[in-house]
Amino acid sequence: MKRLCCFIVILFVSFPALAQEKMPKNVIFMIGDGMGPEQVKAAGIYLNGQEGSLSFESFPVKSEVMTKSADSDVTDSAAAATAMATGVKVKNQVVSIALPGDGKDLKTMADIFREQGKLTGILTSSYANDATPACFCAHARKRDEYEELSRQMMNVGRPNLLFGGGCKGMNPVLLKEAGYAVATDRESMDKLAADSKYWAGLFGPSILPMEKDGNFDKLPHLSQMVKKALQLLDNDKGFFIMIEGGLIDKAGHANNIEANIAETIEFANAVRTVSDWAKDRKDTLVIVTADHETGGLTVLKNNGKDKYPDVEWKSKGHSGVNVPLYAWGINSEAFNKPLDNTDFFKIITSWK
Ligand SMILES: [Zn+2]
Repeated sequence: MKRLCCFIVILFVSFPALAQEKMPKNVIFMIGDGMGPEQVKAAGIYLNGQEGSLSFESFPVKSEVMTKSADSDVTDSAAAATAMATGVKVKNQVVSIALPGDGKDLKTMADIFREQGKLTGILTSSYANDATPACFCAHARKRDEYEELSRQMMNVGRPNLLFGGGCKGMNPVLLKEAGYAVATDRESMDKLAADSKYWAGLFGPSILPMEKDGNFDKLPHLSQMVKKALQLLDNDKGFFIMIEGGLIDKAGHANNIEANIAETIEFANAVRTVSDWAKDRKDTLVIVTADHETGGLTVLKNNGKDKYPDVEWKSKGHSGVNVPLYAWGINSEAFNKPLDNTDFFKIITSWK
């Protein structure tokens, strides 16, 4: 008997993967679009005078993720989001269909959670059918098939919560026809009530305002959208939400360090909102990562708190550097190793 116990102990210590992990009740998957390691460093330096100081940098699990797509060392947001959402590498521009391959729709993380009876949410500060949100609940050969992506998002993929900026093929009338309670500004967002079960926030004509310009008027900031989303989605069976800080990338393409830092700080605010909500819970997993780096940024000199660091940009496009990964909460230790961007789906869907 003693020998048997010993054997069992050795088995579990040596092969922890054999112990089947349980699916967390809530999974919160946060993506900083274009947020490489130097973007994180620059924002921490500006906000607090030192690197390593953003909200998510104190998470217990820290690692990095390889981002290349099926046809390029430098991915675009569509291929990267498809890899994260479905566990399959596709060509740049492709939205969650098997290309290369048979061209069929790929099952997404959101589909898996819905099948488990959980509520699902897709939230971005970019326009609602931009590549990252689209890949979690729609399918197309090209990311610019905007009308088709909108149709699928509203009527087929149909996340319970869909928050983002206005976009082609989506408007409050169509969303209402698809069964959504619709908000168009901060005030109407705050009035959305939990009994609806389908909530849309379509804020402004396109992407949300840039944090650096501060011209929000009646529109919500990313962290305010996140706070409301958590309030709506929290339920007995749990939920999955993909939250994208979508404008770090836009500032990176413009090589605008001031805007880049402001967007990264607001993304960190959104993570803090999530952490505050989750801190006393034992049933929630929070993942913070990026789809790719944008701009080839290097921080050259820390000029102190509230001062912009000296930086160098190498391009106006994406780069192939590994992106950071932070995880907190139940099962977070599963991410404590260098990952490929297809591993998120593989790890999460292995849980029962
Ligand atoms: Zn980009």
